[in-house]
Amino acid sequence: MRIAIGGIAHESCSFSPLPTKLDDFTVVRPGAPEFSQLYPFLSGFPGTRFLATLTAKAIPGGPIKAGAYQALKAELLERLGALEPLDGVYLDMHGAMCVSGRDDAEGDLLAAVREVVGRNCLISASYDLHGNVSERVMSNLDLITGYRTAPHIDVLETRERAVALLVRCLRDRIRPRKAFVKIPVALPGEKTSTEWEPGRGIYASIAQAIDGERVLDATVQVGYVWADEPRMSACAIAIGQDEDAIAQVASRLAQRYWRSRAEFTFGAPALTVDDCIRRARKVDAKPVIISDSGDNPTAGGAGDVTYFLERAMALQPPDMLYASIADAAAVERCIAAGPGARVSLEIGGKLDRGNSGPLAITGTVESISAHDANRQVVLKSGGIRIILTSKRTPFHHRRQFLELNLNPEDHRIVVVKIGYLVPELKAMARAAYLALSPGAVNQDIASLDFRRIQRPCYPFDPDMDWAPNAQFF
Ligand SMILES: [Zn+2]
Repeated sequence: MRIAIGGIAHESCSFSPLPTKLDDFTVVRPGAPEFSQLYPFLSGFPGTRFLATLTAKAIPGGPIKAGAYQALKAELLERLGALEPLDGVYLDMHGAMCVSGRDDAEGDLLAAVREVVGRNCLISASYDLHGNVSERVMSNLDLITGYRTAPHIDVLETRERAVALLVRCLRDRIRPRKAFVKIPVALPGEKTSTEWEPGRGIYASIAQAIDGERVLDATVQVGYVWADEPRMSACAIAIGQDEDAIAQVASRLAQRYWRSRAEFTFGAPALTVDDCIRRARKVDAKPVIISDSGDNPTAGGAGDVTYFLERAMALQPPDMLYASIADAAAVERCIAAGPGARVSLEIGGKLDRGNSGPLAITGTVESISAHDANRQVVLKSGGIRIILTSKRTPFHHRRQFLELNLNPEDHRIVVVKIGYLVPELKAMARAAYLALSPGAVNQDIASLDFRRIQRPCYPFDPDMDWAPNAQFF
């Protein structure tokens, strides 16, 4: 069997002013060593030849520039065409890609892939659970499976499941049926984590619904809420060989999600920035970790909104570590001044100008990390240490701090631009707060200027009625 592997994975925030460009993507082509890191499980499928095409991934950001998408898509299609005939295609996707001037980018890509490989080739895709699935997507692929954890700790497992489903269907000559139930609910990922209820119970119930015959797989998509386009919503999907069974599973999951809609809540106290700082000061253990959630680059934020830092400078907590502000020019100025130098400069507020402006800071350059392209410095001003980075950088791991000679656990308050805490930070935090801060991924979604989503939709239309209606593909 010959199976091609490729895909374009991006979570694009339509509220972000920062376009995603071609050079923001890490592209893995045939022969690249990264291929086996993305798919280390392929040796578990003897008798199948896996053929690399193009896998492109980028950190979440604003809509992808049309030319960048066209270039990636064209190369993927060309590489696929050159490998014909193929038995199957596995697409490693995210599902919330937005391309300027185009709706339903995944739908467009899948339709184009289908055109190249033909009706007889099976197409399987793995999705993040924050993908917005459309009818066009459902009609052009044969298999789809999504993450079942948020924070995502089953990334490899999900990729492997997408490949295993594909191999199984090819081997047993199964042409799976798909039941798709759109759920008119728009909730941020920070409320729908699988670490607490009701997300935990809903996602834990997926595996029980799968019998490996009538129902081959099931997926619940929370969707990606910061995408102002008609397909934005949650959904439930079941695939298998028995239409009644898959309709029942997808409808049941959708109904449970719908009924739970008002129970989804943040996993940490969600407060204004000022209240987070005040509450954190009173905690007697360190570190207290605060999420500067509105500007979370892993959800699509620009990573340079200064609002939180401005409030911190005003309130002056005695010992705070702030990670981080993306500002390449400010980093270079600090590096030129050198360690120990006192500098006065304006930081941040240049990528996302709508949510804050540059912030004037005077401080001392404490440390410099210049070993790769993402040069970083630590600037200390009063009781606040600020990490400045050249590129938009989420701080998820202790080692990132250690590289800057910082130990997060030595600080009373650590602020990260993140939503819910990733496992490493959660384990470290003695207390945690989620700051409802401004930015492209503002958690107060009802305050965002949606114009193109389908209505009615919860929470915008809180009194609406709804019942699941399975569409078959
Ligand atoms: Zn996600």
